[in-house]
Amino acid sequence: MGIIKTKGIIISESNMNDFDKMVTILTPNGKIGCAAKGARRPKSLLMAGTQFLCFGEYLIYQGNSSYSMNSCDIIEIFYNIRIDLDKLKYATYITKIINDVTDENQNTYKILQLYLNTLYMISEEEKNIDFVLSVFKLRLACLLGFMPEIKKCKTCKLDENLNYFSLKENGFKCLNCGKIDKSAIQISESTKIAIQYIVLSDAKKIFSFNMSKENLKELELISKLYLNNKLEKEYKLEDLF
Ligand SMILES: [Zn+2]
Repeated sequence: MGIIKTKGIIISESNMNDFDKMVTILTPNGKIGCAAKGARRPKSLLMAGTQFLCFGEYLIYQGNSSYSMNSCDIIEIFYNIRIDLDKLKYATYITKIINDVTDENQNTYKILQLYLNTLYMISEEEKNIDFVLSVFKLRLACLLGFMPEIKKCKTCKLDENLNYFSLKENGFKCLNCGKIDKSAIQISESTKIAIQYIVLSDAKKIFSFNMSKENLKELELISKLYLNNKLEKEYKLEDLF
């Protein structure tokens, strides 16, 4: 019991009673399901801070079995996402995945950081959306414990001709071993370098590179199938709307 002060972002909201809301906040320490009393009253100070995708600093009262929001200071509302239906669609899509892979009381610092960086890319930058989603998915798989082997062949351990990515065995394979792995996808040298970059780079720089359209198609396929395979679920953009 007591007051918790935490940064977080609203990943879902629903109405409750006449003027209240229930929100789910993703914090660096997991998700919190929290009531926001009076948040739908016209002059409520909680109104803006309890909207979907609002990132802020929250004061939350923790009772015996429930949480309720005392106040919030807004840090970022991702305005460009709110006014653009396509951007909103992509943001909703990644939020659905984030909601599925997070829980209460867990260290979600790095996942939250990736999520915020991806929302920022969708909101502020003009990067190709397939690129942004592909980087997000592959890096998320790493953060969830499925860091692929990217330095040597998963089977024979040699570090040359690593031009296959094995979905089932989590990582690169050489030309010889890749050929006989049914879950392995052949990749170009540039796609290989891009995958290595996404896995290893500093969190703040993961989107700081470019790819040709052709290589992006390969990356898109691998990041999509890899995350689906690891989460045992298929995430389709079309299913949302
Ligand atoms: Zn090999």
